[in-house]
Amino acid sequence: MNVPLLDLKLQYKQIQNEVNEALIRVAESQMLILGPEVDKLEKSLADYCNTKYAIAVSSGTDALLAALMALDIKAGDEVICPTYSFFATAGVIVRVGATPVFVDSREKDFNINPDLIEKAITKNTKAIIPVHLYGQSAEMDEILKIANKHNIPVIEDCAQAIGAQYKNGEPVGSMGIMGCFSFYPTKNLGAFGEGGFVTTNDESTFIKLKQMRNHGMEPKYYHNFVGGNFRLDAIQAAVLNIKFPLLDSWHQGRRKNAALYEKYAIEFGLTEKAGITKFDDKNKVLLPNAIYQEFGHNNHHIYNQFIIRVENRDEMRNFLAKNSIGSEIYYPVPFHRQGCFAFLNNNDADFPIANLFAAQTIALPIFPELEEEQIKYVCQIMAEFFKN
Ligand SMILES: *Cc1c(COP(=O)(O)O)cnc(C)c1O
Repeated sequence: MNVPLLDLKLQYKQIQNEVNEALIRVAESQMLILGPEVDKLEKSLADYCNTKYAIAVSSGTDALLAALMALDIKAGDEVICPTYSFFATAGVIVRVGATPVFVDSREKDFNINPDLIEKAITKNTKAIIPVHLYGQSAEMDEILKIANKHNIPVIEDCAQAIGAQYKNGEPVGSMGIMGCFSFYPTKNLGAFGEGGFVTTNDESTFIKLKQMRNHGMEPKYYHNFVGGNFRLDAIQAAVLNIKFPLLDSWHQGRRKNAALYEKYAIEFGLTEKAGITKFDDKNKVLLPNAIYQEFGHNNHHIYNQFIIRVENRDEMRNFLAKNSIGSEIYYPVPFHRQGCFAFLNNNDADFPIANLFAAQTIALPIFPELEEEQIKYVCQIMAEFFKN
């Protein structure tokens, strides 16, 4: 059986006719940048994220960059972020000239450990960027408590987490001063190219971001500050407007698949239940929290990625590949180990959990169109791996 990590063609087939018509509509209109398709998308997104405003931009990276620029973060400033995330989270901090300050993760949800944030704060800290990694909200109550105490704005990196909710149903992107999202094709809501958006409830931040997206220009050819070209193409918005109404059903498909992994992993003797964080004879594979209710709340995980941990990860990956099962490592190198951040002189021993993740995590196929038989097969092959 063949189980790819992701097969976007299956999703395209569901919406092919509508998408193709929309693409032709944009072509015939020759309204190619921003415009009515983008306006419509922004309304849907603000509504979905329960924020007053959503500003569509050119990528998730540019969403984060525009957010830092909107806060005037610059050389001499420090920004706190997890060491374990996709590169863009830290890259944008350096791009505005500021210094990234890395914080270790916690085992139970792969997200920034809120207990370690306060120690990382200095008089130069100008923002905290928690990442809702893999599609699950970070521990926002604790993060916001520390941030508010020190009067530091929180920018949520929601690139992997559109539609995820924190414990009482708060959508990600609605809790910090800004939320930054990505439409990269592998995200749960993917464009036909690059795209992203920023959410905010703050009117002055909204106005600043709208100008930021267009070189800080207002009115035409008058520039109040230096922004960028962070505009979204109409073609991307047209595709996203077709996909958007299906997003919750795709989240449901991913959540169902996560529950099936739990079921079959238990049946094949790989683990006792999801959410265990220690290896032993009965738990050779550690699954993420399938429901996440054991911690006393209703965190809504949208499973952009389904990440398991195994001790002999690289051999397991080879074995999966030999059996035609796609997988990936998100991420093999935490920020504190990246060559481009060596100048920060971080101490590797300060990040034991991220280092553990770097050695043990594997992403398994989780996309909504997967068949139950494929998930069962993945678990069966993993069980075979441990027999050998
Ligand atoms: C994908 C991603 C980004 C960047 O989004 P792009 O649209 O690829 O620029 C930023 N942060 C995280 C955590 C991501 O996963």
